[in-house]
Amino acid sequence: MVRYVYDFAEGDSDLAGLLGGKGANLAEMTRPGMPVPPGFTVTTEACRSYLTCGREPHGLSEEISEHLTSLENAAGRRLGQPNGPLLLSVRSGARFSMPGMMETILDLGLGDDSVLGLAKKSGSERFAWDSYRRLLQMFGSTVMGVDGGVFESALSDLKRLRGAADDLDLDAADLSELVETYKNLIREETGEDFPQSSDEQLRRAVLAVFESWNGERARIYRRREHIADGLGTAVNVQTMVFGNLGSDSGSGVAFTRDPATGRAGLYGDYLPNAQGEDVVAGIRDTVSLADLEDLDPVSYAQLRGHMRTLERHYRDLCDIEFTIEHGRLWMLQTRVGKRTSEAAFVIAAELVDEGLIDPAEALRRVTGDGLARLMFARFDTSGVGEALAHGLPASPGAAVGAVVFDSAEAVRRAGAGEHVVLVRQETTPDDLAGMIAARAVLTSHGGNTSHAAVVARGMGTVCVCGAGIAVDIAARRFTVGDTVVEEGTVVSVDGSEGTVYLGAAPLAESDVMRYFESGERTAGLVESVARAMEQADRGARLEVRANADTPQDAVRARRFGARGIGLCRTEHMFLGERRELVEAMILARDETDRKRALSALLPLQRGDFIGILEAMDGLPTTIRLIDPPLHEFLPHRTDLAVRIAATEARGERPDPHDVELLAAVSRMHEENPMLGLRGVRLGLVVPGLVAMQVRAIAEAVVARTRAGGSPEAEIMVPLVGAVEELRIERTEVERVLAQVSEETGVPVHCPVGTMIELPRAALTARRIAEEAEFFSFGTNDLTQTTWGFSRDDVEAAFFSAYLDKGIFAASPFETLDRDGVGRLLRIAVDEGRAARPDLKIGVCGEHGGDPDSVHFFHEAELDYVSCSPFRVPVARLEAGRAALSGTRPNDSK
Ligand code: PEP
Ligand code: MG
Repeated sequence: MVRYVYDFAEGDSDLAGLLGGKGANLAEMTRPGMPVPPGFTVTTEACRSYLTCGREPHGLSEEISEHLTSLENAAGRRLGQPNGPLLLSVRSGARFSMPGMMETILDLGLGDDSVLGLAKKSGSERFAWDSYRRLLQMFGSTVMGVDGGVFESALSDLKRLRGAADDLDLDAADLSELVETYKNLIREETGEDFPQSSDEQLRRAVLAVFESWNGERARIYRRREHIADGLGTAVNVQTMVFGNLGSDSGSGVAFTRDPATGRAGLYGDYLPNAQGEDVVAGIRDTVSLADLEDLDPVSYAQLRGHMRTLERHYRDLCDIEFTIEHGRLWMLQTRVGKRTSEAAFVIAAELVDEGLIDPAEALRRVTGDGLARLMFARFDTSGVGEALAHGLPASPGAAVGAVVFDSAEAVRRAGAGEHVVLVRQETTPDDLAGMIAARAVLTSHGGNTSHAAVVARGMGTVCVCGAGIAVDIAARRFTVGDTVVEEGTVVSVDGSEGTVYLGAAPLAESDVMRYFESGERTAGLVESVARAMEQADRGARLEVRANADTPQDAVRARRFGARGIGLCRTEHMFLGERRELVEAMILARDETDRKRALSALLPLQRGDFIGILEAMDGLPTTIRLIDPPLHEFLPHRTDLAVRIAATEARGERPDPHDVELLAAVSRMHEENPMLGLRGVRLGLVVPGLVAMQVRAIAEAVVARTRAGGSPEAEIMVPLVGAVEELRIERTEVERVLAQVSEETGVPVHCPVGTMIELPRAALTARRIAEEAEFFSFGTNDLTQTTWGFSRDDVEAAFFSAYLDKGIFAASPFETLDRDGVGRLLRIAVDEGRAARPDLKIGVCGEHGGDPDSVHFFHEAELDYVSCSPFRVPVARLEAGRAALSGTRPNDSK
């Protein structure tokens, strides 16, 4: 028989799939005897069954009743009993933590009778009415679907009426009045009364948690984090303990290390006389854990002990939520804590030093995306005046943007391409879309564990919290002292320092970037990154090369650790002043003209290649023959036509060169140039072009060889669809190589290979490999031609709609489509190697620097990936991680 409910004492972390992360962790704390309020977990399987069948799974309510009875027996109190009732919390807990995504209900079990019993038993009427109003608020919004803002407004109205600055200024009578107001609101909004039966409350709360799995916020979060929709959530039902029973009680959040910097040492926030939700919501300003040591040294010492145990058990940074009830410490939950990218690297290295994990495990715990974030610039504040505001450095990085005051405006402006900074008093899960759209989040209230801080850190978005600014959402402005900042004003937010500046502050390079540029290895973060890179390079099977077209790029790529160039796009060398030479070649009337134009280009190309081969001396340098349609090197047809028409309209004779150009451009015009005369096709129909390029390469090799270098040029033919194309082109390439060898007396051997960027090439790879010494997947074109998506048009046109509809989770131009493009790639790898076992295979599309795609290329047994120089460190790190078992590209904690 399927079992849907587990007592906390029964589970462990192996059951995380079934019990969710929170349930499994509660079990892990309960078993060694930590003070965890007793409870039970309803499994994810029950949730899945409920969501699939649309009704409660058979036997679930009986199982819940049985476990509830055991809880009641152990506590000596019953749920809903009129005097001193047992109260419960009901929380979601999915397999992967989804902060703020799912709903929590506290104080479940209270009703009109039991609230009086609770008042008597606790000796505090205020506490009892406060608990009841919290239940009404959470149950009303989460289970009964009342807009949470309705309750907030009623609370604010009452506070205003009473002149209360803080919730704590409301007394028992006020809160009991608020309870009446809330009950009436629920009736008005839903047409039904708040259920007084505690069994009904429990049943409906569990089902509401199940349903919140499919809530909009949860779905947005899952899509972003690549969490499968089918997992479902578990529900944790736990005995309530109270942090709001007076000054010897309180709630807190603690980390075993600083989740922002990774620095060792206890770190967290504590809020006396409050429940846990108040800490996270940032309603009042918290005190630090060090202050708790003064307030309650015994609980603090116990907390420290438990945290040390947890960190050693999980061998990682843990965060916990705890409550102190009348001086007694309760551990409410723990998990391996979220952290910034900086902290991830620092903690991983420190845990190795402390002997808790090995270097391979340390590498598993950092990510390429995290590394990319650390390579971001920071502000150079030397030249900017005083900071406008100071807050908590909640999520590092530097961002500049226009101030906006709500999520919708953030989304609207960001959609129009503007950089925005979302400013709120504090954020709630409803702000998620705006937080995703914003470059930075700035709040007036809340601590490092507030919603804004936790979510922004998880997303890698810059965040400053609790900046003490006066936010007036209705007037769409905030003020700091005398300064008024209206919506649309540009500010600079430094999430590493916690400062905000008016205007756009200049950006300064990151330490990590400096390390990659110069090798300068400083203690702390840079040292931790350097160690992770070394570990990655030691284990990686995939080599990382760079896409580089200039000697400068090649030099940088080498500094960043590239083991060669995987793609040198030679057409980039035809731009600028040289465009006229290309123009002359295109317009050539006869053989002599064309030869003259080509020979003018030859020395320039040769010079380029000499520079690049010198920068990459001793490492393979794959030079691709010209790829784009030639009219890209000519002026635009409409520009020319307009110029000629305007001249004619003035009664003048148009410039004959313009007329000639227009005729050429019109002749060459293509409706779909990406599918037209480009790639190998150009080489086959434009006489002399390939020969000139190959000669330039060969002569550069000769020059470098004579200079004592070790040039390793490889020649790559683009957009091949049929082996015959490659055969003809290759014959020409080899003819020129032989000619230059003979002329110079220096033997020039360049492997000749092809790009695989058309489905036909992938499907006929066995034949193509007969003529190719290497394959390099052009996954940009391969994605374009496999999906039939114009790579220049579709992302802006409709990809956001496709992402919303879940057709794909990420743009296939960013992350390789494993099922379609990936399948073609695998076919080509298998067939290519079957025909030529020593075939070298790489990839040089944008995907070469994308973490998820790098893992796929590793699995597909490619030899190398090639990406832009700045992505080289990311690709190196992920290549190393891909070689470790059980590592996923986005395994960040
Ligand atoms: C590709 O198509 O993936 C590729 C690298 O070539 P380009 O982007 O220059 O078309
Ligand atoms: Mg291409």
